[in-house]
Amino acid sequence: MNKILLFLGLLSFSANAQYWQQKTDYKMSIDMDVTTYQYKGNQEITYKNNSPETLTKVYYHLYNNAFQPGSAMDVKIQNMKDPDHRVMVNVGTEEAPVNKSRISLLTPEEQGYLKVISLTQGGKALDYHVEGTILEVELAKPLKSGRKTRLKMKFEGQVPLQVRRSGRNNKEGVALSMTQWYPKLAAYDDEGWHANPYLGAEFYADWGDYEIDITIDKAYTIGGSGYLQNPNEVGHGYEDSAKKLKQKVVDGKITWEFKAPNVHDFSWAADADYKHLKHKVANGPEVHFLYKKSLSEAKKESWEKLPKVMDELFSFYKEQVGAYPYKQYTVVQGGDGGMEYAMCTLITGDREYRSLVGVVAHELAHSWFQFLLASNETKHAWLDEGFTTYISTVIENLLFNDEKDAFKKMYASYAKLVSYGIEQPLTTHGDAFDYNYGYGVSSYNKGALFLHQLEYVIGKEALKNTLRNYFKEFSFKHPKPEDFIRIAEKNSGMELDWYLNFWIETTATIDYEVFAPLTNTITLHRKGKMPMPIELTITYTDDSQEEFYIPLDIMRGEKKQKATVLRDWSWIKPTYSFTATKSIKKIEIDKNHRMADVNVENNVWSQK
Ligand SMILES: [Zn+2]
Repeated sequence: MNKILLFLGLLSFSANAQYWQQKTDYKMSIDMDVTTYQYKGNQEITYKNNSPETLTKVYYHLYNNAFQPGSAMDVKIQNMKDPDHRVMVNVGTEEAPVNKSRISLLTPEEQGYLKVISLTQGGKALDYHVEGTILEVELAKPLKSGRKTRLKMKFEGQVPLQVRRSGRNNKEGVALSMTQWYPKLAAYDDEGWHANPYLGAEFYADWGDYEIDITIDKAYTIGGSGYLQNPNEVGHGYEDSAKKLKQKVVDGKITWEFKAPNVHDFSWAADADYKHLKHKVANGPEVHFLYKKSLSEAKKESWEKLPKVMDELFSFYKEQVGAYPYKQYTVVQGGDGGMEYAMCTLITGDREYRSLVGVVAHELAHSWFQFLLASNETKHAWLDEGFTTYISTVIENLLFNDEKDAFKKMYASYAKLVSYGIEQPLTTHGDAFDYNYGYGVSSYNKGALFLHQLEYVIGKEALKNTLRNYFKEFSFKHPKPEDFIRIAEKNSGMELDWYLNFWIETTATIDYEVFAPLTNTITLHRKGKMPMPIELTITYTDDSQEEFYIPLDIMRGEKKQKATVLRDWSWIKPTYSFTATKSIKKIEIDKNHRMADVNVENNVWSQK
């Protein structure tokens, strides 16, 4: 009795454990030299320790340092079985290719760096040590739970020649793609520090308010995170035409002043050749579009058609997940494909209309899945890439009606990965996958199928409520996979930990088969390791049809549906039998192909 009480006591304690997150407010001013691509910065971080622990150290990311020959990222690229084509270059001939890591070839002028010039805490100089892309700092005064401290840094940076995501002079000629460009505090949460070296996987950081001043050549237009505070001092299409434009030029430069409240990142791009379009989304933010005037007329037309699509995208994501909370969003031509950032995205811009909408639909969806629902991308890439792929695929189907088979294709690509025998579970760290191919199919496709298939398990309405409540409960926080599945449980009334475990934490596959019936007795066989509830369609010899549903015992419930519900199937038992009332002509498991059954050939039996 006592033991049981103690056990229950512990359980309720952990369920009520207080959620907390750190707060990192940034004030930065930087001065950019657009001829050397070097910049000088002053940074002041107010760090609030909301954890229950006392901190004696802090860590910063110095992402630019990845772009140096011999860096950990360079070594990773050189040892990857299938490196991203963007980070490689053929220095041989077409007939005799010699592929090299682009980082390994960067000259000192082309490399990236972030150098700490001075670092203090409350005025006291700090001891620090640079280890690749991580700055390890010993605090002069331990930071107690509930207290704030002020960290001041002078730093110098060099923008690397663009290799991956950030950098100068990307392949479309955008001068500056400034992402992960400043010394950035590593995230600290209930799992401790996340001072991951930058090897190519994505990002994770704590929330805070950002105030950023950027001083740059007056010819350059900037677009990115934050609200511009002095539009009539900079112009470039941001000015309020009712007021007088009064550019404040000092030594040929202008200072752009931005504020970005409650974000976990600040990114921007700048170029002297941007065309600037603006569009106010009905019941949504003002959207800015910045793209190169040098694009062909046809490609510029694609961009000019984008504003209309933004209305559809914002309203769909609002309806499916929740309202976009900022007053601004910016689509900037820059980077090396498409990447999501705070209140903006950087995408390559030399695209046909359909491709442009595709990339914008995806990157904008990330404003919800990872930006607002700020899960740890390095640990759980599927949680944002999968969800983003799922929701953007649904809206693209609605907009274009040209991707009807998109989810079918995802099932096929997942099955193909499985057939190669190189699949790794989605708990694998983003930088630890053996193949980029495996990482991509798993995080994006298998991750999207997590939701698509969850709809099969819990039903359409429960899935929609789950997504909306996930946003309600965890926007502006750091949700984890368990948080999501718990919300799905509450919205479906079903137990779902098994689903998260099998689909994400293992490489177990789904494969059900149906045997030929003996008289009217039907026997199904679970060949794969992953159990699922089963939808079964039976056609009788009199040509009438009946839908059956076999709940999985560990779900402790079933979705809303019209089929005849049979008794539970125990997840551990490989076979299941029941007897129909009439003679049988055909038996089909999951005739709508909502399960990622790796072999659908054996899902159907029919009378010869
Ligand atoms: Zn993505």
